Amino acid sequence: MIGDVRGQLDAELDAIRESGTFKSERTITSPQGPHVTIAGRDGDVINLCANDYLGLANHPEVVAAAHEALDRWGFGVASVRFICGTLELHEQLEAALTSFLGTEETILYPSCFDANGGLFETLLTDEDAVISDALNHASIIDGIRLCKAKRLRYANGDMHELELRLKEAEGSRRVLIASDGVFSMDGYIADLPAICDLAERHGALVMVDDSHAVGVLGAHGRGSPEHHGVAERIDIVTGTLGKALGGGGGGYTSGRREIVQLLRQRSRPYLFSNSITPAVAAGSLRSLELLSASTELVDRLRSNTRLFRSLMADTPLEVLPGEGPIVPVMIGEEQRLGPITAAAFEEGLHVVGFSYPVVPLGTARIRTQVSAAHREDDLRFAADVFARVAGGRAP
Ligand code: PLP
Repeated sequence: MIGDVRGQLDAELDAIRESGTFKSERTITSPQGPHVTIAGRDGDVINLCANDYLGLANHPEVVAAAHEALDRWGFGVASVRFICGTLELHEQLEAALTSFLGTEETILYPSCFDANGGLFETLLTDEDAVISDALNHASIIDGIRLCKAKRLRYANGDMHELELRLKEAEGSRRVLIASDGVFSMDGYIADLPAICDLAERHGALVMVDDSHAVGVLGAHGRGSPEHHGVAERIDIVTGTLGKALGGGGGGYTSGRREIVQLLRQRSRPYLFSNSITPAVAAGSLRSLELLSASTELVDRLRSNTRLFRSLMADTPLEVLPGEGPIVPVMIGEEQRLGPITAAAFEEGLHVVGFSYPVVPLGTARIRTQVSAAHREDDLRFAADVFARVAGGRAP
């Protein structure tokens, strides 16, 4: 019986509204892409907030592969993998990911949130330690919460602190360092060579969540390990199929054979949840094939990113430095976020404000994301809008 609880929850929701951190959703009425239409608004807007880094979410070949899979394999799998939910398509996609990432073996999950949720408690017990970057994604934080290992944390990218934590972890049976490859709210790239050096010196395993780097970083889009030339030194890579690789959804853990084999036996989100559908598996596989066949999309993403970052540097707004396509436009106080994003939207830009609890209080921002599918005039238009909105309406 809901009773008094309804009133209590309403009060909580009011408090969220008053703090300026209430998140409302715009309804998209077109396929995902660099231009979208939005319910209640005439004409299209430039989309600067999708994770569709390569423009594959509505790529004709990806859509065709998904259609064919629907016809050949049907709609659903109606089972977890170990009962009767393993299709040839899942195995093909796992093999394609292994070969693309240059790892030993890969296991698919319903999402990367689940890949991270099912990793730590499978590998680590109370005899072990896990050391996590303070800016790691929520799914790593939650995954670590589920395991009984000693939990240690270091400030974002602070290698001195990481070394101190490694010393604190001495005597543990296993030590695992966990880091995002690209930190999703700031766009910073983790210093994987330094992490690997420290891990090797202290006998620790290294895990990287490359959700925002796969298809993005590295000459072939193989992610942050390729970008830094350290692929062979990383033990575990998790990632998503829900961003650059077609955006259909799903995730994976890839890396050392024995780790992946143990996950297949023990990892709870793998054992107790359906895997991805045939259409999603086939669309993701086609995305990987496109990416493996040519660096054209990755190259275009890189040149679009350089252009947008240089255009934004000429606006009065502060943009976090970096070289990746996550370009956070810093606003600061939560209360300023709504008016600025609304003004940008009025002028034809679909951008979204990020505030607490997604980012720390006082660091509200508009996270813009560049895609290979943006045209040069899209990016020029967007930077012009930001310049106007910052000059005219922001305090
Ligand atoms: N890890 C990182 C770094 C992410 O940014 C995200 C998505 O926001 C995830 C994991 C979760 O990915 P998925 O949407 O596949 O659950």
